[in-house]
Parts: sequence; structure tokens; C-alpha cells
Amino acid sequence: MTDRKAQLAANLEKVEARIAAACVAAGRKREEVTLIVVTKTYPAGDVRILSELGVRHVAENRDQDAAPKAAACSDLPLTWHFVGQLQTNKVRSVVGYADVVQSVDRSRLVTALSKEAVRAGREVGCLIQVALDADESGRGARGGVGPDGIEELADLVANAPGLRLGGLMTVAPLTGPYAGRQRDAFDRLMELATLVRRNHPAANMVSAGMSADLEQAVAAGATHVRVGTAVLGVRPRLG
Ligand SMILES: *Cc1c(COP(=O)(O)O)cnc(C)c1O
Repeated sequence: MTDRKAQLAANLEKVEARIAAACVAAGRKREEVTLIVVTKTYPAGDVRILSELGVRHVAENRDQDAAPKAAACSDLPLTWHFVGQLQTNKVRSVVGYADVVQSVDRSRLVTALSKEAVRAGREVGCLIQVALDADESGRGARGGVGPDGIEELADLVANAPGLRLGGLMTVAPLTGPYAGRQRDAFDRLMELATLVRRNHPAANMVSAGMSADLEQAVAAGATHVRVGTAVLGVRPRLG
């Protein structure tokens, strides 16, 4: 084993132990929580190693980095998640490799994703990104739509050709009433997800929790946690 592989294996083992312990504490089955490793800023070689170590879900947040990485790893049995703020002019590229876009937060993006998914003959899973720190404009500082905008977007995705409504995603807010209250933020996301499922029963994905707060997300009921730093190491400032 290379040093890097040994390091990633050890980190994965620690993260796995954290998720398992959080599931036990919450009385949940381990299979109810999917680990997504966020590989942003790390090279395709690391993605390949993670795949060898059994990782099946990876996430990226910038198309410029993700597109070549996904191409270099197209032989691997991986599900690619896009979790970054997405401009409509990047949608065609993203639809080329992303199985799930977790950062759907406005109607123009839904229209663009649908058009490109149909064009590519692909079905793209979509999560509505919820901004629990949304201001009066209904938008969050790091993307996302405020709770009041969820229903309209969910209906739009559900009716858009080429798209499948997967559920909701959030990033624990750094500002606003939920700052520093991850568990409350994730509980709120779960309530909002329950509301979405009244009209869209199959939309059962709830993506929440990162390296620092995955336990709170599992406790709240998240189905997907997105972990970068705890697996790959501290990133250089950018990303
Ligand atoms: C980078 C990122 C993560 C992973 O964060 P870590 O703290 O490194 O685990 C999760 N979700 C999103 C949307 C991200 O951009």
C-alpha cells in the first residue's frame, strides 16, 4: 500500500467509526446513512484510491476541477454528486458527469438542467439546497433557497423532463439564527423534508452534515453526509 492509500484508509476507518457510532446513538441502521466523500481540490489519483477502498459516492463543487477529474475516473463505479453553486453556463458540462446535483436553488437552474439532461439522454437527481440563513431576498449567502421557496422549486423539478426530485440538502449556516446550532438546523431541514414528501413521497434524500457536524446530521435523520476534510485532509484555502 502506498503512504497515501494507507492514510486515506485510516481516515476512512475513523469516519466510518464516527458514522457507525452516531447511528447506534440515534437508534438508526448503518445502511440508512450514505457517506459521500467530497474530493474537491484533491487529484483524480485520490478519487481512484478511494474507489479501491470501497467509496461509492464522491462530490465536487467546481465544474472546472470536477469535469476533468470525472473524465479521468469514468471507468470507476462511482456516483458523482455536484454540491457547489452552479451557474447556468456550466450546466451542460455538469450534466455530463453528475448523477446528482445537490445545489438546485432557483428556477432558471431547473430549466437549464432539464434541457441538458434531456439533450444528453440522462436522468439527473436533484436536491433542493435550502438556505437556513436566507435573507429577505429568500437566498442564502452560500447559495440555497429559503424555506418559503422550496415547494415551488420541488414541483418544478418533479415536473421537469430528465430530472428526478431526490430531496433536500443544506449546509449548516455560519450566520443568522441557526449559526452554531447545527442540530437545530438539521432538525429544521428534516421538518422541511417531511413537508416536501407530502406531495413527493419518493423524495426521501436528506443531505446534511460535513466533517465537523456529521454526528448531529445523523442524529437528526440525514440520509447522506458529505465529508471532505476528515477523509482527505485539510484543504488549501481555496475551495
Ligand atoms: C466542502 C464541502 C463539504 C465537505 O466539507 P468538510 O468540512 O471538508 O467535510 C460538504 N458540503 C459542501 C457543500 C461542501 O462544499
